[in-house]
Amino acid sequence: MKYDVLLIGAGPGGIFAAYELVKKKKGLKVAVFEAGHCLEKRLCPIDGEKVKACIHCKSCSIMQGFGGAGAFSDGKYNITNDFGGTLYEHIGRKKALDLMNYVDSINLSHGGEGTKLYSTAGTDFKKKCMQNRLHLLDASVRHLGTDINYVVLEKLYAELKDKVDFFFDTKVEKIEVLDADKEKHTDEDTFEEKINAASYRVYFSGDAKKHIIEGYADGRVCVISVGRSGSKWMEGVSKDLKLKTLSNRVDIGVRVELPAEIFSDITDELYEGKIVYRTQLYEDKVRTFCMNPHGIVVSENTNGIVTVNGHSFEDENKKTGNTNFALLVAKHFTAPFKDSNGYGESIARLSNMLGGGVIVQRLGDLERGRRTNQKRIDESFVRPTLKATPGDLSLVLPKRILDSIIEMLHALDKVAPGTANEDTLIYGVEVKFYNMEVVLDENLETDYRNLFCIGDGSGVTHSLSHASASGVYVADIIADRL
Ligand SMILES: Cc1cc2nc3c(=O)[nH]c(=O)nc-3n(C[C@H](O)[C@H](O)[C@H](O)COP(=O)(O)OP(=O)(O)OC[C@H]3O[C@@H](n4cnc5c(N)ncnc54)[C@H](O)[C@@H]3O)c2cc1C
Repeated sequence: MKYDVLLIGAGPGGIFAAYELVKKKKGLKVAVFEAGHCLEKRLCPIDGEKVKACIHCKSCSIMQGFGGAGAFSDGKYNITNDFGGTLYEHIGRKKALDLMNYVDSINLSHGGEGTKLYSTAGTDFKKKCMQNRLHLLDASVRHLGTDINYVVLEKLYAELKDKVDFFFDTKVEKIEVLDADKEKHTDEDTFEEKINAASYRVYFSGDAKKHIIEGYADGRVCVISVGRSGSKWMEGVSKDLKLKTLSNRVDIGVRVELPAEIFSDITDELYEGKIVYRTQLYEDKVRTFCMNPHGIVVSENTNGIVTVNGHSFEDENKKTGNTNFALLVAKHFTAPFKDSNGYGESIARLSNMLGGGVIVQRLGDLERGRRTNQKRIDESFVRPTLKATPGDLSLVLPKRILDSIIEMLHALDKVAPGTANEDTLIYGVEVKFYNMEVVLDENLETDYRNLFCIGDGSGVTHSLSHASASGVYVADIIADRL
């Protein structure tokens, strides 16, 4: 099977790359290989009744499949260079913002019209934060909501399915560089030399083998967009192809749940406030992440480890009386330690070991040094939206991280009184794994000509809007070259 472009992964990065490729260059032969299911087959078996905990499906429907990790997400597209990745370091601030706005316009024209765009700039709340040693980051936030996000994905798929060959339940196992002359070509090379510089073969397992009997497909260009769930795979590919990589960081923390009224000043105006705090005790940075007004707390599975996350809905009927958000502490490691994700996983494993999954604790109990039990949860004024195991997070999280989180809760209490109430619920562990960063140039291209790496799998992006923008960016370059 011969293609112009082989795309690995159908998350936002892969989808927007495919969208832009076929829009810019009609008739281009594009194949998308996706380890997870097509959108309608993505169904997590945890129903809270028959299946209460993760049963480790072959492909995780929360993290994998058409729409990637973002499919059942809250669909918050943060249009900013302040967080969500470092795409701007490669392509420039203006270009990055332009592309994020372009992605926003596509989302709007595919079902997202009517959704709200929030902005943090110049708000009273920003001033209040500054007065209390908190720093509110600037962003425009398009909130699609889990329900509309799904509709947008449905529409994008409907538009793409006849123009692009999608192979679902198909994991790419290996990438082979076919051309011996695989090094990057210089500006002096002719157009033909550049375009024929390298071609790629991907070997896969799974469903596509029914259609492509050889078990491989060839392409002139290959775009890797494997996201977070592909992080281990990406490490293997980097070793195989000797791609240069940089070691990275892991963010560890908890998810906080409290009555929605406490944060309503912030969430009504901004929907989500990204707030950074530097602790007095250690001068560590703690930040809020993924705020879900009137949302629910959920568990998620990354590489077999159950961690906590949050969702919210546009649909009024699905809204709850609680708001949740994460508080995360960034850990950067230096030599000789390289396995920052392994460190995060070990901490999450501890909570899985003690609680069988996610642990929940009242802040009052945490500060008193006592375990929360079911009775204390039942007596609490805050009703948990996730059925987690009541326990003691001080047995799970390192002291420094826990101290920092508690200190930030008290700082937040000054701008949103009630945050540090005894009944505030703390769920653990929330871990934000970062992929190791692949060294890429200003085209998001590896040392191999026409081998691109985009989205969260590249380590450059960590968000829907940055990942999607990186897809559009490389698609434009490829369309020009082809
Ligand atoms: C519950 C949840 C909520 C979130 N909420 C938000 C939010 O509100 N706002 C925000 O900005 N971000 C959010 N995120 C993060 C966001 O989803 C990601 O940043 C984004 O999806 C990254 O897009 P991507 O295309 O790079 O990777 P992904 O979305 O991870 O997609 C990668 C795809 O590649 C596939 N793949 C991996 N390896 C292979 C292989 N070897 N062969 C074939 N296919 C492979 C995977 O199955 C996956 O479908 C959330 C994440 C989660 C899990």
